[in-house]
Amino acid sequence: MSRKPTAAYLKRKEKNEESLKSSGTAFIGQVIKFWNSSLWVGVDRIEYYVEKLLHSIFFLGHIHDVRLLPNDFFESQAVKDELETRFQMAFHNYMSPPRQTPFSILLTLAVRICGHENEDKIQENLLSFLEALKLPPKIKGESNYTNYYTLEATVIAVCYNETPGVLRPVKYYGASLSCRGERARRIMINQSCLNVWHNYVSYAVLAFRHEQRNGIIFPGTVKCRAFYRNHKTNCYEARRPCKNCGDLFSLSNPDTVRKDFPYGNCAETECLSKLISKDREVRSNMILGINYTRENLRGLREKAKTALGQSLMA
Ligand SMILES: [Zn+2]
Repeated sequence: MSRKPTAAYLKRKEKNEESLKSSGTAFIGQVIKFWNSSLWVGVDRIEYYVEKLLHSIFFLGHIHDVRLLPNDFFESQAVKDELETRFQMAFHNYMSPPRQTPFSILLTLAVRICGHENEDKIQENLLSFLEALKLPPKIKGESNYTNYYTLEATVIAVCYNETPGVLRPVKYYGASLSCRGERARRIMINQSCLNVWHNYVSYAVLAFRHEQRNGIIFPGTVKCRAFYRNHKTNCYEARRPCKNCGDLFSLSNPDTVRKDFPYGNCAETECLSKLISKDREVRSNMILGINYTRENLRGLREKAKTALGQSLMA
């Protein structure tokens, strides 16, 4: 028997719907401002990133509780028309899942602009974007915009392989999923397991999801650090890895309390996957769980494929 939704529930739902609409609109507005400013000037293939950002935001609107259309994210019809002419793909293919959430694309762009070595500059670049978004003041009694759909990733992470003799290792970056709600997270994690992350990472995430506790272990030369934004100071501060990341990747000094996020949600997942894909030495010195076989991975991927199909139909 279905119960009638309470007034408080409806109010919350309305607020959430409004928050994705307004933060998506602000995000796109800011992308356009930065695109036209000196901050992003001279970046090769900038249109490619703008198109990816639009697609990712439109997709999150499409799968939102109360469905939002691309048209809902623009303050003026003129801007929308102009972008639609330039970025037809984003406006036509928005129903298919993107490879990254919006904030992750923004981070990729910041790394392109600042260079992979310059962690501080990358953080500053993101912070200036976030500050310019001018999100509404924090809701009283709620920390870190818990109930407001901001499209900001709560955590960013960096990792690298500190090979002896190599002075400046390549740094890889990742963001936690900048989408909200169980369905959106599940879609993005399954999509990443199937089409984005390295097989070793997909395997660890899916194995833990299906209670086959089988993580992967990195060589001791691999360093990984995570940061969250302190909203009061608008600075990134260091953070321990969560329990999930401790399980999946055997990161040192993890939190002992299990957070209520699915495996694969974290920033560490994205940056470590990039490191494995790019660094052959890391790849060959990793320890994989005893159950890691092609066969097992294929079975887990089949499950992820079914789950992705079902959540896209829902
Ligand atoms: Zn984590």
